[in-house]
Amino acid sequence: MSTADGAFDTDESCLFCKIVAGDIPADLVHTGERVVAFRDIAPKAPLHVLVVPRDHKPNAAATAAADPALIGELVSVADAIATGEGQPAYNLLFNTGEAAGQTVFHTHLHVLAGGKLTELPV
Ligand code: AMP
Repeated sequence: MSTADGAFDTDESCLFCKIVAGDIPADLVHTGERVVAFRDIAPKAPLHVLVVPRDHKPNAAATAAADPALIGELVSVADAIATGEGQPAYNLLFNTGEAAGQTVFHTHLHVLAGGKLTELPV
């Protein structure tokens, strides 16, 4: 959840906070009031986009606890991007925890399309 003054939580050491702030370049495909999306730098499928809340939380469950509607926004933005790129069939994935492959501890929804999830090393 954003703070009472309307600002979003941020972590100055967080890579995705820096992308959201525009301090590090990314191939942006969506810039909304609360949600940003950009292409994964190491795509694991023909379409591989990360949909990210501006508000810094370490994982999807933390975002859901703070602001459940924001998870819905991530899914809606993911659908709009995939559909808009001609990929109405896609997989959505939140990695949570290092042992599950999470490497960036800022909530991000992987949108993968153009390949079968069982064949993707996400
Ligand atoms: P995860 O492993 O679920 O934490 O996903 C992190 C994802 O971020 C990986 O798929 C990386 O390829 C991707 N990634 C890392 N750095 C960048 C970057 N600078 N721009 C875009 N994607 C990135």
